[in-house]
Amino acid sequence: MTSNPILLFDLDRTLWDFDTNADRTYGAMFDSFGLADLCHVDFATFHERYRQINDMLWDAYRNGTVTKEQLSLRRFSYTLAAFGCNADDPEIVRLSLRMSEYYVVEATQQTVLMPGTRELLDWLDHRQPRPRMAVITNGFAEAQLPKMKTSDIDRYFDYFFLSEDLGFMKPDPRFFEEALQQMHARADECLVIGDDYKVDIVGAMRAGIRQVWYNPKGLALDANQPKPTFEIRNLLDFKDVLNALVEQ
Ligand SMILES: [Mg+2]
Repeated sequence: MTSNPILLFDLDRTLWDFDTNADRTYGAMFDSFGLADLCHVDFATFHERYRQINDMLWDAYRNGTVTKEQLSLRRFSYTLAAFGCNADDPEIVRLSLRMSEYYVVEATQQTVLMPGTRELLDWLDHRQPRPRMAVITNGFAEAQLPKMKTSDIDRYFDYFFLSEDLGFMKPDPRFFEEALQQMHARADECLVIGDDYKVDIVGAMRAGIRQVWYNPKGLALDANQPKPTFEIRNLLDFKDVLNALVEQ
């Protein structure tokens, strides 16, 4: 019988239902900023374009080619520009800034969790001995901490590791190494659980940490992509993974 591993959970799309929460926030934003009239577009089209631009900017942010401030502004100004606005127009810059502020405030009020999150966290919390648990996230501090509080999941965690504080972003192995150092833990004592193969799983692999890929959509890997240590479709299947590991 081995002891519990230390569990490192990703937050967005692993525990907190980022897509549902974001859809609600953007829907409300689209209406309250009158974007249908400004951009002559319906919400679905606007949101789809926003998603593409946001993903592109997040890649650039992870690569260090844009700053957090640029990302926060441009994800809105570039989307407005995609629908005919001039991204350099001071009015549009001001509007984009207001949208950015609105988003952070409103998104953190959303509380939809991924299916099984609460049950899994309660199950882990009542386990004897209780495993040490951490959140590992690349998201912004002003968004991640409030939304964990509003969703009442912060109380389950012993550690919060934010890329902004650590100075490195997943999948950089230094993100994980820094987190391990702060927990006084070794890589082989830990287990990373995350939905993003390229960010969470590859990052953990590089740092020599076992991984659980939470893959609710059943995405396929290319033949050249190394398999994660474990893969689950449902968060609650993690109970079996942990039981099997601890019984070994
Ligand atoms: Mg994620």
